[in-house]
Amino acid sequence: IIFKIHCKDTTSAVAVADILCMKLKPRILQAVYNQSAVDVADTIRRNSEAFRGNKSNLEKHFLKSLAKSKKFEDFIKYVHDPRKYFENFITEHVKNQLGTNQSFLQIFKNNLKAKLALKNRKEDKANVWLDSFCKKLADKLEFSMKVLKGINLGEIFNFDNLKETMKRALDGLTEDLNPEFSSLSSIQMELFRETPAEILIKQLCDCCWVRCPFCAAICSRTIRNHDGDHSVSFHRPTAVSGFHYRNTDVFSIIICTTAVSSSESFYPDSSDRLVKYKKYREAGERFACWSITPDTSELPYWKWLVCQFKNELESHYKYKFKKRGEIPAAWKELTEEDALGSLEKI
Ligand SMILES: [Zn+2]
Ligand SMILES: [Zn+2]
Repeated sequence: IIFKIHCKDTTSAVAVADILCMKLKPRILQAVYNQSAVDVADTIRRNSEAFRGNKSNLEKHFLKSLAKSKKFEDFIKYVHDPRKYFENFITEHVKNQLGTNQSFLQIFKNNLKAKLALKNRKEDKANVWLDSFCKKLADKLEFSMKVLKGINLGEIFNFDNLKETMKRALDGLTEDLNPEFSSLSSIQMELFRETPAEILIKQLCDCCWVRCPFCAAICSRTIRNHDGDHSVSFHRPTAVSGFHYRNTDVFSIIICTTAVSSSESFYPDSSDRLVKYKKYREAGERFACWSITPDTSELPYWKWLVCQFKNELESHYKYKFKKRGEIPAAWKELTEEDALGSLEKI
């Protein structure tokens, strides 16, 4: 990066300014992208209800939109790999916003303006001015002083001239860089060191993703590797994760919180060992780390959703809602309103 120039040249000020600008251009562009990634992520979190809170809020938003879209494909992806599902969801949302929402362009333009706005303070000597100029640049643009090695500042006699030239060169640079942000399609995703989506994923997905060993509901604790048991406020009918009665094609529709207060048993693995739901913690490591409290406050949402996806669940898992796994009549009476209303309790 080190460059040498000869300042004896009468156009030395112009040369310094030109070379500085040439070196600055990619750095300014990078700085604009770095700041804009943060600003875009912030704006999305502020303006979108889904992204305003934490992962649980995002999940609630997803469940609400699922009730409307009834896309089983989305649902089953979410059940089997929720983390990946949400990461994709965030990535798609950001891509869509950056592709269509013109207001994001202004973020880039404003950041470009801010990066190039340097105070031109009156200083006695060119090197003092250039020194403080570069210090500011270093702060703003991760600009390395190394770039300036080789310039003999003492030979730039006309300081005012350099300053004026530098100002003009920076104006020229602004004009030069403006087209980079002339339309949403000119935003180059590959220039983000960390994309807005990656920032949002860090903010929203860095939490506990351990799933209930019965119904696959995601632990709602916000800290990854947290102390204490995993827990979630509402479990689901276990058929959602494919639970069924062994050696039959019958789904189990029992809900974890009801199961642990029942006298029923389950097979925790492929062996013949039966464990009482009441003593589920004895079933093995992945059961022992969960706190599932006996409770009958089941979420109407899940009962309603199982009814909506009855056929899809049957053909996905190849089990049937029949006999012991018959969907109760009361579930079928639940309305979409009941379902959505119950989500508000989460
Ligand atoms: Zn559960
Ligand atoms: Zn957890």
